[in-house]
Amino acid sequence: MYDILIIGGGPAGLTAAIYACRAGKKCLVLEATACGGQILNTDKITNYPAVASVSGPELAQNMQQQVLDLGAEIEFDKATMITAINGGFSVKGEDGEYSAKSVIIAAGTSPRKLGLAREDEFIGKGVSYCTTCDGAFYKGKTVAIYGGGFSAAYGALYLADIADKVYLVHHHDELRATGGVIDAINANPKIEMVLGSDIAELEGSEKLTGITLADGRSLEVDALFVSIGRVPHCDFCIDLKLDDEGYIVANESCETNIPGIFVAGDVRTKALRQIVTATADGAAAAEAAIRFLN
Ligand SMILES: Cc1cc2nc3c(=O)[nH]c(=O)nc-3n(C[C@H](O)[C@H](O)[C@H](O)COP(=O)(O)OP(=O)(O)OC[C@H]3O[C@@H](n4cnc5c(N)ncnc54)[C@H](O)[C@@H]3O)c2cc1C
Repeated sequence: MYDILIIGGGPAGLTAAIYACRAGKKCLVLEATACGGQILNTDKITNYPAVASVSGPELAQNMQQQVLDLGAEIEFDKATMITAINGGFSVKGEDGEYSAKSVIIAAGTSPRKLGLAREDEFIGKGVSYCTTCDGAFYKGKTVAIYGGGFSAAYGALYLADIADKVYLVHHHDELRATGGVIDAINANPKIEMVLGSDIAELEGSEKLTGITLADGRSLEVDALFVSIGRVPHCDFCIDLKLDDEGYIVANESCETNIPGIFVAGDVRTKALRQIVTATADGAAAAEAAIRFLN
């Protein structure tokens, strides 16, 4: 039985592992895909203290190596269910079952999809959820970005530096984003706002060639970037208290409503979802788990 089992090998989970190992706890990180989480999609991080500029994959690799050097085990398996057992918890994965005296959930989030027919078929063939990851593929092309918040607005400006034409599409008559970013969009001749209509259909055969709006208009585009928020990964444990948006509720020590289960990073209720706040949570959650075990 492990002392601390960490679900998720992103910045929050890997930091929790550093603290757990340095406190002499037997620690397992369960990671569904590849260590690093969302930062794997970032080619340049410039807001992590003491590191003026680093690529996401490089930062992730450094964190993973540090965790391994400290003696943590990393298992590539997707956690599907946590249940209470005598003396701790059992975590069921797709490939195995693991037991631990305490669990830290650091499973992050993934982008929210539009839910359109053929959306999955076009992922990587014109549909993307990340302007910084995929925008560069559309130099000189025509693209659309869907969403009404700040990330869609900043995404439109980012894309306008690369593409020839950017449609900013949103179903409301105005964006939720306000202030200077809207002034910048209005002043940018490459960006055309297409408001008051949803996307009804994705067009194309091998790859995306256009979008049809609910009002019947059709826009020829090489790519559609979807920017409508993120979905927390926390459907493992039915008794966890969640907020209205589905994020796990915890106090400043990252303790959940279930003694012995802690939460760190983007998956928990918080105001700012960044690498520094994820790593801070990882430390706090590990400390709380160590206190719980001792
Ligand atoms: C494109 C992009 C650019 C960004 N740029 C910056 C930036 O420049 N600076 C900055 O500070 N922040 C940036 N962020 C935000 C930052 O990446 C996140 O705040 C941070 O990664 C959150 O860390 P986390 O460990 O909480 O979650 P995540 O990074 O989401 O990691 C969660 C991990 O858990 C794993 N996982 C999920 N479910 C399971 C499961 N069931 N079982 C096992 N493993 C599971 C996932 O595979 C993933 O590896 C960016 C985000 C994106 C998307």
